Amino acid sequence: MSTSSSTYSAPLSSITAGGFIKLIGLLLIALGILGMMVAAFGGEAASPVSTGLTGIAAVTAGGLMYIWQVRRQKSVAEQNNGAWQNDMTTRGASAWVTGVVLTGFYILLYWFPTTLHGLVLAVEPLSQWLRNRPADHWFLYGTFYTLAILVMGVHALLKYRNSNYHIIRTISVMFFQLGFAFLLPALLLALNQPEFYFSYFWPLKYDYLFPGTVSYLIDNGAALGVFMVFWGAVLSFIATPILTYYFGKRWYCSWVCGCGGLAETAGDPYRHLSDKSKKAWQWEVAIIYPILGFIIITTLVLWINSWSEGRLLGNLSSGFSSTYGFFIGAMFSGVVGVGFYPIMGNRVWCRFGCPMAAYLGLLQKHFSRFRITTNGGQCISCGNCSTYCEMGIDVRHYAQQGEPIIRASCVGCGICAHVCPRGVLKLENGPRENRFAATPLIKRSDVGILN
Ligand code: SF4
Ligand code: SF4
Repeated sequence: MSTSSSTYSAPLSSITAGGFIKLIGLLLIALGILGMMVAAFGGEAASPVSTGLTGIAAVTAGGLMYIWQVRRQKSVAEQNNGAWQNDMTTRGASAWVTGVVLTGFYILLYWFPTTLHGLVLAVEPLSQWLRNRPADHWFLYGTFYTLAILVMGVHALLKYRNSNYHIIRTISVMFFQLGFAFLLPALLLALNQPEFYFSYFWPLKYDYLFPGTVSYLIDNGAALGVFMVFWGAVLSFIATPILTYYFGKRWYCSWVCGCGGLAETAGDPYRHLSDKSKKAWQWEVAIIYPILGFIIITTLVLWINSWSEGRLLGNLSSGFSSTYGFFIGAMFSGVVGVGFYPIMGNRVWCRFGCPMAAYLGLLQKHFSRFRITTNGGQCISCGNCSTYCEMGIDVRHYAQQGEPIIRASCVGCGICAHVCPRGVLKLENGPRENRFAATPLIKRSDVGILN
């Protein structure tokens, strides 16, 4: 009997403090999801605030506990272990389920928002407190989006904890999302000012330079509205080229942008799923630049229509903007861009669809000091850099030949350099002269040891 008793008590007594924290974290996540489902589908049976809002808080707290424990117990060198074995990060069944849930959420958000009514009610107290007005489905989305960046930002901070570059970059995207894309717009609404996102500019936030938005901001925001229009135009046409000249597109795509922020935090576990094939590169070029052209034409057409008071183009301009809004603004950036993270990687939107990325990429390739230099003589062709490049760039190909990487699509995340075991890669903002020149490789004949 005594043997049998000790056998059964062994598993419980063997749970370590770390294992216990992980278990509590998972329990909180499960209970939180249950609470959110009751809020979403329970009708009037239970208070959406006590189930939904508490559920959101429980998922957040549980997620943080689990992430803290899992990432802390791995050494820095082991952080990517299992990336190609884990069902969730190798397009396994759980990845597909996650993809379907995310995609389904975006479809409900854009086209059937009333189905989210219970969850919207759950965040009502938060909306009243922050914005002094009722919650809507966009506030719910903003809350989820910001929490995803903050919680998974902690994940990225722990995963890349030995690199100052990644620590500062991650804090930067968390700061811009929380401050500039969540709290500040809420404060503006609380003060009865137009809602405005200071960290998004045309052509990503395409309607900010549409005549309808410009007149709305000026009419409703008085001097502040004029400043908002001025800010948007200056950031799009003056600050963007200057900052990209000095730092490449990374200043925006990996430090400020909310889409990039989500990709670098919540999307980080999927970065290796990006397609590295030449075909994907060809698709990238064939899709992203026409989208940039589409939004430039749409904006011009809208202004021509506005100046001619509708006489010149009639309903054509609104047809342009609604087509762009449906296919690019909603379908591509939301449904595909985030919903497909677990299947196609975390930068599908940034790589194939974002007009801001196309604009920044052209500047980066032709008018910038940024490049990734490669000390090709040190490369052992392990391929880590290519594997973890979220933009599908075959970094190893350049490294093997000592060539600098100057690609329009590179977002300057710096992960290629971080995972390189030989210190081959370096992100630099050097002079533009000879920017494309390869580093001369040291050959055996250059050394002449036997002589
Ligand atoms: S080449 Fe390096 S810095 Fe550029 S996107 Fe790929 S991993 Fe990031
Ligand atoms: S990670 Fe470093 S050593 Fe490995 S292939 Fe890339 S550049 Fe070469």
